Amino acid sequence: MWFLLILNFAGKVAAWLLGAAEPAAAAFLWLTPDALIAYHLFVPHAQGLMRNARRFSTPRREVWLTIDDGPDPQDTPRLLELLARYDARATFFVIGENAQARPGLIQAIVNAGHEVAHHTHTHPVGSFWCASPARLARELDTGLAVLRASGVAPTRFRPPVGIKNLWLASALKRRGLVCVGWSARGLERRRGDADDVVGRVLRGVKAGDILLLHEGPRVPAAIRIVAIERTLKKLRELGFTCIVPTAGQLIDP
Ligand SMILES: [Zn+2]
Repeated sequence: MWFLLILNFAGKVAAWLLGAAEPAAAAFLWLTPDALIAYHLFVPHAQGLMRNARRFSTPRREVWLTIDDGPDPQDTPRLLELLARYDARATFFVIGENAQARPGLIQAIVNAGHEVAHHTHTHPVGSFWCASPARLARELDTGLAVLRASGVAPTRFRPPVGIKNLWLASALKRRGLVCVGWSARGLERRRGDADDVVGRVLRGVKAGDILLLHEGPRVPAAIRIVAIERTLKKLRELGFTCIVPTAGQLIDP
């Protein structure tokens, strides 16, 4: 991160020194470092500001199913039934506010043998990237407090839609949280039906992939649950098992 910030500062100084004498070069030096920082903030797979795991190592035909944005009173109980039926384990990246409203669902997820992980307290998609260190700390700590009240001590975090923040790496490190990205996602709100979602999340699926799907009201009604059920069915047909990898299995990109 510091390399990007120093580069940005150096670019601004150089642009200011060149000024009107070389306007095109000055504009390039002024804007290019900004574009680089924007890339690493907003592109989910970019690793320049911080590491976020996109795969895990396994000698077996295994994938990691991650389900974001719950818990949801309608979807989570049905998902737990589905996962049990397919003998699958998953990680639920939950929103603190949702967990606070339904602590029983957090317990149900844990009791069913799945992992609960941190996905911010309020899921601020539009403003997470520019949140101040104090606001970022509130997002992390309020969510942590809610989960701890349910007996859960999460070790993994995923930012909303994979957008990062300049202060996120150090904030996660201080709290013992590891940032987890994904190999493929269903993009449930894009055009198409449940089969399109399954096609997207399982395109070229291979052992060690991290798959991202969602629960809750942000998912279109016709896709809710159905896409996850069909994904589990297809994974079984392809001979994959859904597991939750250990910390040692995560691949540092
Ligand atoms: Zn989310």
